[in-house]
Amino acid sequence: MDLKTLLGTLVDKGLRREPPTRAEALAVLATSDDDLLDVVAAAGTVRRHWFGRRVKLNYLVNLKSGLCPEDCGYCSQRLGSEAGILKYTWLRPDQAAEAARAGVAGGAKRVCLVASGRGPTDRDVDRVSETIAAIKEQNAEVEVCACLGLLSEGQAERLRASGADAYNHNLNTSEGMYGEICTTHDFSDRVATVRQAQGAGLSACSGLIAGMGESDQDLVDVVFELRALDPDSVPVNFLIPFEGTPLAKEWNLTPRRALRILAMVRFVCPDVEVRMAAGREVHLRSLQPLALHLANSVFLGDYLTSEGQAGKADLEMIADAGFEVEEAGRTTLPAHRTGAEPPGREEERAPRPAGEAPRTDLVAVRRRGAGTDLAPNA
Ligand code: SF4
Repeated sequence: MDLKTLLGTLVDKGLRREPPTRAEALAVLATSDDDLLDVVAAAGTVRRHWFGRRVKLNYLVNLKSGLCPEDCGYCSQRLGSEAGILKYTWLRPDQAAEAARAGVAGGAKRVCLVASGRGPTDRDVDRVSETIAAIKEQNAEVEVCACLGLLSEGQAERLRASGADAYNHNLNTSEGMYGEICTTHDFSDRVATVRQAQGAGLSACSGLIAGMGESDQDLVDVVFELRALDPDSVPVNFLIPFEGTPLAKEWNLTPRRALRILAMVRFVCPDVEVRMAAGREVHLRSLQPLALHLANSVFLGDYLTSEGQAGKADLEMIADAGFEVEEAGRTTLPAHRTGAEPPGREEERAPRPAGEAPRTDLVAVRRRGAGTDLAPNA
């Protein structure tokens, strides 16, 4: 199939919420750099159809960092990790609410409460419930997503009852590759937890990590598994190869490949919240604005154990690229996913005017390089 036919087919299917074939998804990953902008434009059509030019901001709060007994190879918090990360036990509810406040003040409408570990004890669920209450007391509109690992029976229901809106548990990679990245739990454990969350009425968030040495087939496998599970949001992480972890040498991604991966995810999961997640600064680098045409959601600020780019830079990037931060109170998902209204074309609103005020702070007279004694900026 030639590129034009492939992309036309993928757009038609995306607008109808039909899955592409595996061959079509693989073909997206195999496109050349010459074709990259056509791929982004096609997937961008699907993104705008369902989400307009809105970008949802999410904010991570790491409630408990490091010292995990599990051995996920990609994770700086794993058993035996020698990464020099922060290690601390549970934040108090008021400390977590204080951290969340900064993200919400920056424009985040979802706060993601994350704790390292295989899964929570019932006491941990109590702590998180108190934290959710403290956050919602400050701001009743904020969405709260918990990410606490594998859930035991009844825990999803308790989190839902305490006000959690969503639960995150990533599949991370294909079932075929799972044993290579983790030996202390398996793929089916992860699927079961996502189903538990859905069964309790929590909005499921489940995604992947690209760049761990997987094949294109593995990437397509995990994204089709995600489509079958039908989470409401799919974070796409790009491996941050931390020194001191087994995957420290896995530098496999280019910015163009990261874009192709996001485009493939958008075509397979057209009407779900696709989030550019950890590693975007490291791997998409200067191509991050193009990824806004594919993902409709990003994390603001820092990640669990690594720093992201300045929140101000994120907001400027969104405005510069002609997108707008999704406001609180606006439902992210298309109406047919929330049962509110029949499916219809997402209204495309003109983006808020960006950059109208002169940005003199960005203009600096060159005083280095050619014509000076100073080294150039290169
Ligand atoms: S269970 Fe979570 S915190 Fe623990 S090693 Fe795996 S990913 Fe890291």
